[in-house]
Amino acid sequence: MTRVLKNYINGKWSESKNTKLRDVINPASGQVLSQVPAGSKEDIDYAAESARSAWWSWRNTPATQRVQYLFRMKQILEINADEIAEICTNECGKTFAESKAEIVRAVENIEVACGIPRLLQSDFSEDIATGIDEFYIRQPVGVGASISPFNFPVMIPFWFMPYAIACGNTYIVKPSGKVPGSMTRIFELLQDLNLPAGVLNMVHGGKDTVDAILENQYIRAISFVGSSDVAKYIYRTGSANGKRVQALGGAKNPVVIMPDADVDTTVKIICDSAYGCAGQRCLAAAIVLTVGKAGEVFPAKLAEASKEKRLGYGMTPGVEIGPVITGESKERINKLIEKAVGEGAKLLLDGRNIKVPGGDNGFFVGPTILENVDIESEIYNTEIFGPVIIIKNVDSLDEAIKLANKGHHGNAASIFTTSGAAARKFRHDVQAGNIGINIGIAAPMAFFPFSGWKESFFGDLHGQSFHAVEFYTQTKVVIERWHDEWTRKF
Ligand code: NAD
Repeated sequence: MTRVLKNYINGKWSESKNTKLRDVINPASGQVLSQVPAGSKEDIDYAAESARSAWWSWRNTPATQRVQYLFRMKQILEINADEIAEICTNECGKTFAESKAEIVRAVENIEVACGIPRLLQSDFSEDIATGIDEFYIRQPVGVGASISPFNFPVMIPFWFMPYAIACGNTYIVKPSGKVPGSMTRIFELLQDLNLPAGVLNMVHGGKDTVDAILENQYIRAISFVGSSDVAKYIYRTGSANGKRVQALGGAKNPVVIMPDADVDTTVKIICDSAYGCAGQRCLAAAIVLTVGKAGEVFPAKLAEASKEKRLGYGMTPGVEIGPVITGESKERINKLIEKAVGEGAKLLLDGRNIKVPGGDNGFFVGPTILENVDIESEIYNTEIFGPVIIIKNVDSLDEAIKLANKGHHGNAASIFTTSGAAARKFRHDVQAGNIGINIGIAAPMAFFPFSGWKESFFGDLHGQSFHAVEFYTQTKVVIERWHDEWTRKF
């Protein structure tokens, strides 16, 4: 019988109040792995009430004690990384190595959050006037919640949750309904932490569940990651309801190749960037802008290297590219390519209809490279979220930067060059939150803030690092003067 996933609320597993279920599917085989509840307002209200009840005692637990749970959380993830990664690969399609890599990133965030007793320290000014001192303290905001996308089911909640609870908030994690299994397993494993009931909760579901988070009076802060349209909706609605919101959106990342770039390493890095996680990565290379003579070399070289990529089930050793997440996703990508070709784009490599051994029921799209794409076309301006590269040749770095800044998104941008001056100009002028210089996936370490610009981000404080600490705390300024019989009188 197919397993039906449960919510974890108030230290216990409970069934959703909504009996409507959705199949969770292995995208490499089409096999149904489990069923996840569509979710309900009642589930969120129950989780928020539990988190609120747990909050006062948790906020009054010293930070040094709170982080002891995180030290053990880190160990639990590390010890069980293979098992969690396999669940992630089966649900999400990415390779086992990619799943392991996201667990490493999750662990790095727990490690940074372990330093929160130090990160909570703030300024103290003695004698702002004679005998009067002023300082501020950081206190938790209350109940927080994260809403995450399908493409990094393990890592993304950890950009927020460890910081939130270490700062003294209680928390609700809402995984993507497409890939709920790895977080469910993590919550099963985290039961060994014996956290006080209600501190950490998980609720499954889709739009109704998210809307309940946006409306719940006890939830004070929301961290969202997903597509730009939904991010905008979350930011607008959550803010209108008086909550703190940080909403990370989609991407369409440009990569500039200068004529002086090293050919072999650049080709390798760009292929890894564009095809890793089957292109379903918010830092993936999407538009390759070759400058001058780079346009004579790189298109053919990229096509040659791309052809060699091995597709398949992510647990099979040697597989480099897994499937995309759903049949609808595959169809959407194929339609975008078809439309672009109809409008005059040239296919240097066509990944539609690729044959993958044993993958007849999987949602595979092979590496695809398009040239002669109209910069006003749908494919040029839409996040494809598949293993597709658009190549365009331009005459100068200025023109490349202008094109790189043209789109609605601003998540990441990379340049490949041996010129420090070109790299410097690029990083200075490009409108994106993450810049790679001879790096294809400019993913910040956990001790740096992570987010994009423009429609890749709505909010101000980003995920990870001291930004997460600021987002999940509020400052209280204290100005004080003390007198008693031993000191001066007023
Ligand atoms: P999505 O926007 O469809 O879903 C994200 C979350 O929002 C899920 O938990 C989902 O249940 C919920 N949701 C979906 N539609 C909703 C609606 N109408 N109202 C309320 N909630 C809704 O995103 P996805 O397809 O799961 O993930 C891919 C997207 O996430 C891509 O656009 C990708 O670029 C983006 N992403 C961004 C980053 C980043 O750091 N900026 C990182 C990873 C993924």
